[in-house]
Amino acid sequence: MKSQDIRKQFLEFFKSKSHSIVPSAPMVLKDDPTLMFTNAGMVQFKEFFLGNSVPKNNRVTDTQKCLRVSGKHNDLEEVGHDTYHHTMFEMLGNWSFGDYFKKEAISWAWELLTEVYKINPENLYVSVFEGSNDKDNLGLDKDALKLWKKIVPEERIIYGNKKDNFWEMGDQGPCGPCSEIHIDIRSEEEKAEIPGRDLVNMDHPQVVEIWNLVFMQYNRKANGDLEELPAKHIDTGMGFERLCMVLQNKQSNYDTDVFTPLLKEIESITGVKYGASDDTNIAMRVIADHVRAVAFSIADGQLPSNTGAGYVIRRILRRAIRYGFTFLNTKEPFIYKLVAILSDQMGISFPELRSQKSLIENVIREEEASFLRTLDQGLVLLENLMKDSADKTISGEKAFELYDTFGFPIDLTALILRENGYDLDEKGFEAELKKQKDRSREATQVSAGDWVELNSVNEESFVGYDELEAEVKIAKYRKVESKKKGEMFQVVLDKTPFYPEGGGQVGDKGVILSSDGEAIEVVDTKKENNQIIHFTKKLPKNTEADFKALVNSSERSNTASNHTATHLLHQALRSVLGNHVEQKGSMVQSGYLRFDFSHFSKVSSEELQKVEKFVNARIRESLKLEEQRGISYNEALEQGAIALFGEKYGDSVRAIRFGDSMELCGGTHVKNTSDIWYFKITGESAVASGIRRIEAITGEAAINYFEKQTNILEEIKSGLKNANDPVKAISNLQDENISLKRQVEILLKDKAKNLKSELKEEVKSLNGVNFLSRKVDLDAAGIKDLAFQLGEEIDDLFILFGTEQDGKALLSCYISKSLTEERDLNAGQIVRELGKYIQGGGGGQPFFATAGGKNPVGLNEALQKAESFIK
Ligand code: ATP
Ligand code: MG
Repeated sequence: MKSQDIRKQFLEFFKSKSHSIVPSAPMVLKDDPTLMFTNAGMVQFKEFFLGNSVPKNNRVTDTQKCLRVSGKHNDLEEVGHDTYHHTMFEMLGNWSFGDYFKKEAISWAWELLTEVYKINPENLYVSVFEGSNDKDNLGLDKDALKLWKKIVPEERIIYGNKKDNFWEMGDQGPCGPCSEIHIDIRSEEEKAEIPGRDLVNMDHPQVVEIWNLVFMQYNRKANGDLEELPAKHIDTGMGFERLCMVLQNKQSNYDTDVFTPLLKEIESITGVKYGASDDTNIAMRVIADHVRAVAFSIADGQLPSNTGAGYVIRRILRRAIRYGFTFLNTKEPFIYKLVAILSDQMGISFPELRSQKSLIENVIREEEASFLRTLDQGLVLLENLMKDSADKTISGEKAFELYDTFGFPIDLTALILRENGYDLDEKGFEAELKKQKDRSREATQVSAGDWVELNSVNEESFVGYDELEAEVKIAKYRKVESKKKGEMFQVVLDKTPFYPEGGGQVGDKGVILSSDGEAIEVVDTKKENNQIIHFTKKLPKNTEADFKALVNSSERSNTASNHTATHLLHQALRSVLGNHVEQKGSMVQSGYLRFDFSHFSKVSSEELQKVEKFVNARIRESLKLEEQRGISYNEALEQGAIALFGEKYGDSVRAIRFGDSMELCGGTHVKNTSDIWYFKITGESAVASGIRRIEAITGEAAINYFEKQTNILEEIKSGLKNANDPVKAISNLQDENISLKRQVEILLKDKAKNLKSELKEEVKSLNGVNFLSRKVDLDAAGIKDLAFQLGEEIDDLFILFGTEQDGKALLSCYISKSLTEERDLNAGQIVRELGKYIQGGGGGQPFFATAGGKNPVGLNEALQKAESFIK
């Protein structure tokens, strides 16, 4: 069965059990402070498990793009070395939000595997949570056991401990016991030797977990206690690539049609056969795996960068490059060439790969080229380190510097040292690494207390599109502490006019006012698990009082101007540059806006002017805001709305229209484009290969900008003769400047010529040497020039020139080649000795050398001493 069909059958099966099929959420998370990437299917549904919002359907099924490279679930080091862990993989899942529970989850899973996919049940093992004796003091999962016993013989049921059979998303939040389904795909002989049940959860590559059924029934609180969830949920996750391995009768995920096209292409690029050796096999698997993770992230809008999620992506790509470099001898960018294959193969299920193919290729190619340069430089540095090492050991500090400052991978360092017979102080390196990790952990560590709940949150809790103030109550609050920001409070209101950071727009600031006049400042607003959180430095005295929530209105209106302007800018760019322009990121705040978009070359100044004109024309047209809330996603797209990749949209969306510009957007906007006043671009630059950035200002900021420019112009004019035409006046000055420079050059040449004939007269014969020693008034280059010219005209010449410039002394010594050879005179040696008179030093060659010093007073003495070398 083709992988495409395997995926389809899963979704169809659960559809037949009344589940609705939903799309995968983006793999890169934009507004979850606890998680960088989706690491399991349940992540996009967290808000439902936590009870923060109510799902439209209480049964859903999907395939979710997951990435396990950081945090609690990190498989990176396994990937490529084993055959069944990936960085990016698809997790097939079915969910019940407070609907069916263990009975259906278990029997449907069994039905699908054994009746639809026709897996031999004798190869399947299931596990049940055995309970725990720790402080949670949980009992055996009797319900699950009873249900399994009805379908699976006792000898294939395994009792699992907390590590394997109690699933937790993180340190806090929904959790519960689980039943895993494992498969044994070994040969009959191997099975006869060791029973499968002895190999479950023992990291055997042919006895692996394929599906995990989690029974969400608890919430882990901040203090570590468990509480029963009011409603019970089902969360299941099956590894798609592992399932394909089973159904396609393969022994490795990499032998399925998910990976073989990629491996074939790697073979044809590198000329290395998959299967040739362990090292090259691992390298090829690493590359085939990592290109998926990187391509999907870029499609989701996350480019490789130096911080946060972008840095994680960069490191994954570099890991792939490094495996190629070391084991497949690839010294040129090549991973980007795999993107075409990947997008052909996965594009049907994930269209974002197709539409962004050339962007993904460009970004990967640039990253590869730049990291290959780093590797080359690192090799040179490492060679120098080896040369300088007396005891054939490289210290941990040096290796860490290479790793940290230059990005040179430590395992490559270790490998090269080993090959050259050097040792690496690995303990020292680990210590340095740990120090760095501790520093960054300390800086970012946040500890959160439990929520104190006072009131419930209104269903439509955000009222900020229409109002900037509201009568509110505190729904809940908690204390959070971090090294960076100190003690803070997170406050959730029953409803709020405060816009939470999102869609590139900053969160609102303002105050929460109590009736007795106490004002609590809101320093930021963010969204977490579909709750709007206000960040404050303190709590009101009486948290149960009535409050008025007031948004800082001037900041909000400037921000709204900038947000609407980004929509018009987006439209302008598509109109001026073409429809290939896609938004790749934006930053909207009160002071300015930033807009990143895909485009292959620098935007010329004529194009920028056109864009500016386009936007300002829309502003002058006074286009009214037309807002549609709660329209269906598909209908909005049919009306021509632009949606962004990597953004998570629900079934019902908000569409914002100004004239012909229509976008799906949750941000705040002006009521009329004329409120923006004016739009001015202040910068255009490259963010990455194929991605440009425009920075711009509007409204007050634009007016301030023009005032400042006018003042600068006035100042320039006041210094010019022809103030009416400053451009002409400046160009006249420039012309004048050029002609003056030319005249000075001619004069200096004349001066040098005169000096030369003067000096020729002064040369005296001393002990068979034509000798000259005196001060001259020329710069270092002029002196050298003069000395060599004289040398060409006079044989057996010895010159010592002294000069004083900017309070410093310079001695220059010239000696004809004939003298350096026959009389053993050495200019380098001479200036070094004479250097002491001017408190300095120098050197050079036997025929020409210079010495600089800080004591010009000593020049005369040095010049007098020159004769002694001839005598
Ligand atoms: P394992 O013990 O094999 O690492 P897990 O216990 O971490 O698996 P879960 O967190 O329960 O796995 O995830 C659910 C399913 O997702 C697993 O049963 C497996 O099929 C799949 N899966 C988990 N991690 C990976 C991975 N890194 N690559 C591919 N599939 C995975
Ligand atoms: Mg795991």
